[in-house]
Amino acid sequence: MMKKILVTGGAGFLGSHLCEKLLQEGNEVICMDNFFTGSKRNVIKLLDNPYFELFRHDITEPANLEVDEIYNLACPASPIHYQYDPIKTVQTSVMGAINMLGLAKRTGAKVLQASTSEVYGDPSVHPQPETYWGNVNPIGIRSCYDEGKRCAETLFFDYHRQNGVRIKVVRIFNTYGPNMHPNDGRVVSNFIVQALKGKDITIYGSGSQTRSFCYCDDLIRGFMAMMATGDEVTGPINIGNPGEFTIKQLAELVIELTGSKSKLVYEPLPSDDPTQRKPLIDKAREILGWEPTIPLREGLIRTIAYFDDLLKNENSLS
Ligand code: NAD
Ligand code: UDP
Repeated sequence: MMKKILVTGGAGFLGSHLCEKLLQEGNEVICMDNFFTGSKRNVIKLLDNPYFELFRHDITEPANLEVDEIYNLACPASPIHYQYDPIKTVQTSVMGAINMLGLAKRTGAKVLQASTSEVYGDPSVHPQPETYWGNVNPIGIRSCYDEGKRCAETLFFDYHRQNGVRIKVVRIFNTYGPNMHPNDGRVVSNFIVQALKGKDITIYGSGSQTRSFCYCDDLIRGFMAMMATGDEVTGPINIGNPGEFTIKQLAELVIELTGSKSKLVYEPLPSDDPTQRKPLIDKAREILGWEPTIPLREGLIRTIAYFDDLLKNENSLS
């Protein structure tokens, strides 16, 4: 049966992939976005579809809609963008969660929260299981994002306990792929764009810090598997690729795959930058039957092809 599905942050990197997949599966999709980090370009090819609606709206304001499911993705995700206006970032996470949970309460919709591995902060438990409560600095430059997302999780579970709202919380680990903005600022897009332009590759710190990178298609499959679970499944469930790489290894792989002559340069490490990150995904395997299938090398090849096209088109326009 055709469902009416709201995707907040639908014009962003992950949201645009999700909107496309939900339409392909025969649903009606409302994409809500304030275009802070997202763009119309990400959803332009969906605009011809009569079952797709693009709605410019800020989730810190309530919205009156009738929907069956809500995927709440609206929030800048790259440190440079969420630190640009940190108070607004907290408002987006907290007021946005209240507004979407209120909508779910009124309509009876299921609501999925795009939470983050940042709830674990700079983790002292490695790899990170969902039972780990984290190590977050409440007053640092990343706190607007980390604590905003933690408070959003609190609100999800309180609306569930207090009002019986049907919640689904997934904790996403670093995800990359086509539709990231070339100036997004996160590491994978930065390194690929730098390599393709022959500019220096900017490693922050020594490059020994680790991350685990998930390709977007794998992640979207995980989102949809989570939404399809029965009401007893609330999460939180980690969704990510357990392959762990140092940032220096990532830089070297990008150079190899692009054949770039770019050099590695070392810049200061921003404060509170987590030293290690790797998901335990046993819960996702057991409960969702989900695991990632696309290794980093393969995902990077696809992402490099996307940015290569994008940069060539930009050059031909200028
Ligand atoms: P993104 O920045 O590309 O997308 C975020 C979208 O939200 C953008 O389209 C932006 O314009 C929109 N937005 C921001 N504030 C808004 C507001 N107040 N009202 C309406 N729209 C607003 O980032 P992304 O990587 O696609 O991330 C999507 C979600 O997934 C975010 O909630 C992020 O925290 C979460 N997440 C992503 C990752 C990742 O690695 N990509 C990891 C952990 C969590
Ligand atoms: N990073 C880097 N160079 C860049 C961008 C990021 O070395 O140009 C590092 C950053 O310091 C962090 C890691 O790469 O250690 C991942 O950064 P990103 O902003 O992608 O995500 P997050 O820190 O939120 O996981």
